[in-house]
Amino acid sequence: MLVIMRDHASKQEVDHVVTRLHEAGAEAHLSDGEVKTIIGVIGDREVIYSLDMEGMPGVEQVIRVLKPYKLVSRDFQPEDTVVTVKGSSIGGGAIAVMAGPCSIESEEQLMRTAEAVKASGATMLRGGAYKPRTSPYAFQGMGEEGLRLLAEAGRVTGLPVVTEVLDVRDAEKVAGYADVLQVGARNMQNFMMLEELGKMQRPILLKRGLSATIEELLSAAEYILKGGNRDVILCERGIRTFETYTRNTLDLAAVAALKQLTHLPVIADPSHATGRRDLVAPMCRAALASGADGLMVEVHIDPEHARCDGPQSLTPDGFARLMSDIEPLVHLDGNRWGLPS
Ligand code: PEP
Ligand code: MN
Repeated sequence: MLVIMRDHASKQEVDHVVTRLHEAGAEAHLSDGEVKTIIGVIGDREVIYSLDMEGMPGVEQVIRVLKPYKLVSRDFQPEDTVVTVKGSSIGGGAIAVMAGPCSIESEEQLMRTAEAVKASGATMLRGGAYKPRTSPYAFQGMGEEGLRLLAEAGRVTGLPVVTEVLDVRDAEKVAGYADVLQVGARNMQNFMMLEELGKMQRPILLKRGLSATIEELLSAAEYILKGGNRDVILCERGIRTFETYTRNTLDLAAVAALKQLTHLPVIADPSHATGRRDLVAPMCRAALASGADGLMVEVHIDPEHARCDGPQSLTPDGFARLMSDIEPLVHLDGNRWGLPS
């Protein structure tokens, strides 16, 4: 349920509603807009309805929410959420590009890639230390040593770093090194992990599951917001369809739909979506034209010898070309790069 307060309702009026909700054992989540405060209510429906909130001072309207998510919806918060990490922003017109290797393989590989993507204008550095591999015999990542290298590359380049938390037991450890914690597609519905990440005050990059609907992605994000962490970035990374020419099918309608349904920033990952280097740049352009707030792009100094996802990785030169290609699109509708000003 959403309680919409009148324009410029007083703090006492808002506090009164919140107190009554707490007394009834419900959770009250506040969205404080410039003119309007909206209260997202979570709890026993029957008890909440019996409160007659429509009659309380300062309340304009009470809306029953039929969707399985509330806090992530634009009804709860009409303004875009802007996630800021170490001066880099995403959302509200700030466009982010998270670039780097699929997996961290060595100090030299990571540092050279990091310097190259920074020079071309990336706003964040990505790199996997714990890799979710289909085969248990494939390279599983460098683990904590990879995290250490990633943090060092972030320090040297000044870029915030994003990496995947593969197992909830590693969340605190990963948070000790990374600025943004990634939930991979295969873990999108790992609800215990989402709950734990919801308790952490660290931005979360939530990737869409391989076969997850838009509603399931939003419901997964709801778990994180419900725990109190509002810094969530959604990522469309391609879904499973009958098509096999591309690794997955990039669902750009989902990007446009998500921008309507939620205030959270939405990025696209054409690398994992297509699995093909030659399709990354066109799909980056299409994603920005669809309203995406950013991109995730895999870059490797030597894709041919990459231990993971080489065929979809751009070379540093390819990434530089991509960045100049998309420059005009970034400034569409008055958007800007999410770099520190
Ligand atoms: C990744 O970004 O490294 C990754 C494994 O992506 P996904 O979870 O989308 O497959
Ligand atoms: Mn990858």
